[in-house]
Amino acid sequence: MDAVPKEIIPDFESWGISAFTTTREAGTFSLSSTEPVSEVMGRWSSLQRELWERARRLVSIRQVHGTRVLVHTGGWEGWLRAGEEADGHIAAEKGIALAVGIADCVPVFIAHPSGIVALLHSGWRGTGARITTEAIAALARYGLAPDELAMHLGPAICGRCYEVSADVREQLTGQPATRPGNVDLRSLIAEHATEMGVQKITVSSSCTRCDNDRFFSHRAGDAGRQIAVIVAAGA
Ligand SMILES: [Zn+2]
Repeated sequence: MDAVPKEIIPDFESWGISAFTTTREAGTFSLSSTEPVSEVMGRWSSLQRELWERARRLVSIRQVHGTRVLVHTGGWEGWLRAGEEADGHIAAEKGIALAVGIADCVPVFIAHPSGIVALLHSGWRGTGARITTEAIAALARYGLAPDELAMHLGPAICGRCYEVSADVREQLTGQPATRPGNVDLRSLIAEHATEMGVQKITVSSSCTRCDNDRFFSHRAGDAGRQIAVIVAAGA
């Protein structure tokens, strides 16, 4: 069986945790793109089959550029398209694969050696409202200390490619701005995580726009979305 084309993140493998972002070659995973829904659904089915040995549960969320973080537990099988609006989720036990759709926004992968994992979608709104801080605080409530976590910031638009209005710059940096300028969302997210006490942070060298031949980019005009996935193997 052909694997879904992806950029693999090796950081958490020693903990039995797999993480990756699909590439353009895998096709779009967005059900609201211009492609036939049957083809998109076929990609989700292929992904489920590929993950089956590691996880019987796959969850996607209804993303709205907010800061809500859902928590999932087991006791079911299949692909859950969570109806609640949220931009982050936590798998409180092994065997639950988390997915978020992205195309310039940052996929934030968080893992703990116990096998508890989290995955966030952080664009400028989510970054400005600090969804990463929310998620780390939620994990701390589960008894997971920030300094035990490992974080990876996946393929996203880079600081050189991402120009935003003065207003957005102010919201993101907290500094007065009078003209448009460039911001690096992944640097800001890494700062937020560091402030919370996370020490192990890695960043993908891929930019969705610079590497537009490999990834979908909203700014480059793509309607398609790749997905980020994280899963701790477990029945
Ligand atoms: Zn770039």
